[in-house]
Amino acid sequence: MPMGEFGRFAGDLVSAKARLRAKVIPIAIFQQNPAILRKVFSAMAHIVTQPCVGCRYTDCVVVCPVECFYEGEKMLYIHPEECIDCEACVAECPVEAIFHEDNVPEDWKDYIEMNAEMAAKSKVITEKKKPLADS
Ligand code: SF4
Ligand code: SF4
Repeated sequence: MPMGEFGRFAGDLVSAKARLRAKVIPIAIFQQNPAILRKVFSAMAHIVTQPCVGCRYTDCVVVCPVECFYEGEKMLYIHPEECIDCEACVAECPVEAIFHEDNVPEDWKDYIEMNAEMAAKSKVITEKKKPLADS
């Protein structure tokens, strides 16, 4: 390989590594200190809304890097102090129940407070479960 080409190849490798590091390190830090870093970066939360009621396929919980889903009787909730806004769960939800706090549809705004209240008194869920019988 000519020297110029080798230089470009080596440069590409270095920048690919830097990009990877930039993505991976913050997630590792968030996993250790989600509450502190949420405060530092003033992160908002993602919210589980009405379409999750009676559904609970739980596809969302397995992709969450900080394990901030909590299991209620009829739906799941996201703990707003723990969510790092990575958006990984949004695409996993088959019924489009998860929204960024800023984008929750008007009719479902109540779910913002409900997620905070219910997550605080529910049990964390980290593994996929069978859906409810009526799902
Ligand atoms: S994938 Fe969607 S509907 Fe299923 S439990 Fe998660 S938020 Fe609820
Ligand atoms: S956006 Fe979803 S996957 Fe990411 S931290 Fe919040 S709840 Fe977990």
